[in-house]
Amino acid sequence: MPVLPIVRLGHPALRTPARPVEPGRIREPGIQQLIDDMVETMHDAHGVGLAAPQLGEGVQLFVYASEGHPEKHPDIPLRVVINPMITPSSRELVYDWEGCLSIPDLRGMVPRHLAVRVQGLDRDGRPLDFVASDFEARVIQHEYDHLNGIIFLDRMRDLRTLGYMEEWNEHMAGHEGWDADDTAVG
Ligand SMILES: [Zn+2]
Repeated sequence: MPVLPIVRLGHPALRTPARPVEPGRIREPGIQQLIDDMVETMHDAHGVGLAAPQLGEGVQLFVYASEGHPEKHPDIPLRVVINPMITPSSRELVYDWEGCLSIPDLRGMVPRHLAVRVQGLDRDGRPLDFVASDFEARVIQHEYDHLNGIIFLDRMRDLRTLGYMEEWNEHMAGHEGWDADDTAVG
């Protein structure tokens, strides 16, 4: 399971809507290998999510997982989501910090729906239908956007909150609302 290079902003895959995976092909080695590579690459990059276009693959597939911050939010076990449809199940928007493995080192405040319903297929081609909230909902919305050629910068309402993590850490450490360890990075 090799770690693959993550493409960065400027690569056309990040701005191209991804195509659905044919359900009959999900169990084939090509897709299964891609899933394994994505999980490995996400962990290696210390991200909490990764979408296929970030590896230059234009298919509707993302993975996410998070562990290690129990005081902030519960661990999120690994999820593989194929051909997702996302519908907000809360009209409430919440702002929090986000970063992107394809836009290294930058962080910004992004509004997201507090909760979303996720429908799609898992890595065995079985139907998925669940509601996620809070941090998990944020990660899902970030990854889902990648499948539509959208990045978190497009979602920001105030670009003045955009900054390099190193600078935030130096000048904002300890300030309310800033915690680099608790940032959704996908
Ligand atoms: Zn991202």
